[in-house]
Amino acid sequence: MANFTEDQLIQLKAALHKRYLELQCEVREELTHTQDISNEELIEYLNHVPDDIDTALVDRQINEMRELEMSMRYLSELEFGDCIDCGNEIGFERLLAYPSAQRCIACQNQFEKTFPKESKSSL
Ligand SMILES: [Zn+2]
Repeated sequence: MANFTEDQLIQLKAALHKRYLELQCEVREELTHTQDISNEELIEYLNHVPDDIDTALVDRQINEMRELEMSMRYLSELEFGDCIDCGNEIGFERLLAYPSAQRCIACQNQFEKTFPKESKSSL
């Protein structure tokens, strides 16, 4: 795990949770715009995104939430802050700005060159 101070970890954890809640609100708003959906249905939806529903609307949010979930899991497994490609530190500033970041800047650039479709939003 990257070398964070206790204080940095607390900040990063807060940033992760905040971003996650923001996304959850966005998804809920977009879904409730188009259909009546209860909280239970929303959770079900987020856990098992059905194939037969057009998810383009919330795809970006769902993807980012998955990444945040992964980061939160890493946080408790003490692997948080390491680039999933090269294993180097992602960096505190970058994580604070992009809590869902899974790669260091160098690997992210490389990833976007290799998989331009997956990494860019459809907007
Ligand atoms: Zn890297």
